[in-house]
Amino acid sequence: MNNSETQKKDDVRFRVAIVGCGIGGLALAATISQFVTEEKSQDGIIQVDLYESKSEVSVTGAGVGIWKRSWQVLQGLGFEEDLVKRGVKVPVDGESRGPIFRKSDQPTPGYDFHDHVMPYGPLGLHRPTLLEILQSKLSKDCTIHTSKALVNYTVHAGGNNATVTLHFADNTTAEADVLIGADGVYSATRQTMFNGLFKETGNDEYARYARAEYSGTLAYRGPVPTDKFKEKYPGHMAANRPKAWCGKSQHVITHPVGPYIGVIVYKYCFDLSSSPTLARYQNQTVVPSSRDEVLALCEGWEPELREVLGSIDSDPSKVSCWVIHTVNPLPFCVLGNVALIGDAAHAMQPHQGVGGGQAIEDAHLLGRLLAHPKAALATTSKPSTLPAILKLYEALRLPAAQKAARASYDNGLMYEFNYPGFVFGGETSGTSVTEPDASSRGPTPKELKLLGERIGDSFAWLKEGDVEGDWGKAEAELEKL
Ligand SMILES: Cc1cc2nc3c(=O)[nH]c(=O)nc-3n(C[C@H](O)[C@H](O)[C@H](O)COP(=O)(O)OP(=O)(O)OC[C@H]3O[C@@H](n4cnc5c(N)ncnc54)[C@H](O)[C@@H]3O)c2cc1C
Repeated sequence: MNNSETQKKDDVRFRVAIVGCGIGGLALAATISQFVTEEKSQDGIIQVDLYESKSEVSVTGAGVGIWKRSWQVLQGLGFEEDLVKRGVKVPVDGESRGPIFRKSDQPTPGYDFHDHVMPYGPLGLHRPTLLEILQSKLSKDCTIHTSKALVNYTVHAGGNNATVTLHFADNTTAEADVLIGADGVYSATRQTMFNGLFKETGNDEYARYARAEYSGTLAYRGPVPTDKFKEKYPGHMAANRPKAWCGKSQHVITHPVGPYIGVIVYKYCFDLSSSPTLARYQNQTVVPSSRDEVLALCEGWEPELREVLGSIDSDPSKVSCWVIHTVNPLPFCVLGNVALIGDAAHAMQPHQGVGGGQAIEDAHLLGRLLAHPKAALATTSKPSTLPAILKLYEALRLPAAQKAARASYDNGLMYEFNYPGFVFGGETSGTSVTEPDASSRGPTPKELKLLGERIGDSFAWLKEGDVEGDWGKAEAELEKL
């Protein structure tokens, strides 16, 4: 590719480069496609170029839980019809889809302590299906360029309108008026933004924002083929509803997604140098694992869980350990005409299952803002509105996503009986349990009931408001520009 391919044509209002064809990048391009058409802008098209480092848009991946607010965005994009055609049961208000929380770190059968009833959700979507449908929503003004790994970018501030040059690993470049980094937790866009500020100012904080940080969580993932499992264990609880199998400093999520049951064993471990087994995860992102390793992690846990783990696909290439990294809470995610969305801006612990949903919400709001007729480059009489519009996105979305990240962190502590208000082993004081006892006994059913209520409360925000309400706030601000 050379610059001529991304030069502005006459009917182009402005050019948007999106780095990363994951959930956030594709949802942004789909939203711009939807709303530029709907606005029927007379001012020209928005040229969208998506750059993906891989040779194709991801065709692998596990299930992604979609809750009410992000489901509304997908509904707006016409997902309901696409999913029904594929035989996926779409969510309905008032329906409980779990997960059901269960005490499992005992050799005898455990017990359920919380049934998670949430409006609309979550809908468990197979990630490749989600990406495929999003891709089908792109207008002809969007072009996907694969095998384009962003290395860094440079901003040219001269003239009325700043432009950005993207530099790729294959030594090619591309130019845009707006750059959106949707390139995930290890974002090259975020690194360029904050390492640049670090070099300029010498302030170490910027270096902290540039890098991804190990979160203390290892996530072992592997699929269980549903048909074989149901045949061997008819009526097994893992086949029908999502389950959270909880225990001390570890928990397991099982999630039926059509042809397979997704299994994730989360292990809490900050010090990876503490044992030779764990040392191999240091400075890694994804490490091959195996069914035996996953089973060994849950030695002494309840039999029904071990039946699930023992049914994980025996092909070791399908089992891996994800060394979960997160992004330190950023003070901003927009600088000039460059913005970060999704995990690039706020990668979080996965314990509320909302990281993908937050990327979708970012994409929805930013896409509608960019598609709005007010979004325009500078003319001889008016300055560009694009930097202010990106800042509006940041003001409305970054604090919300960071709140979700904090809630996700807390939830991990709750599922693994480490939440500070619930130090088990003491007297129940009505609303919480505070005093540990020397025997370090496990939590009682009464204590777990309270914990379950707290878990329920922690998801309450997902029921509140809706994306149209957020758009209303954005539109009111937009009118002031
Ligand atoms: C174990 C686990 C379970 C999870 N469960 C859920 C869940 O149930 N529900 C939920 O909502 N979320 C869940 N998440 C979080 C969710 O997967 C992420 O939040 C979501 O994928 C973020 O989307 P994104 O588009 O920002 O980034 P990504 O999905 O990571 O996409 C980034 C894209 O950018 C590309 N890219 C990277 N670097 C470059 C580069 N330099 N140049 C060009 N392209 C590049 C990548 O190849 C990729 O295609 C989970 C995460 C984990 C780890």
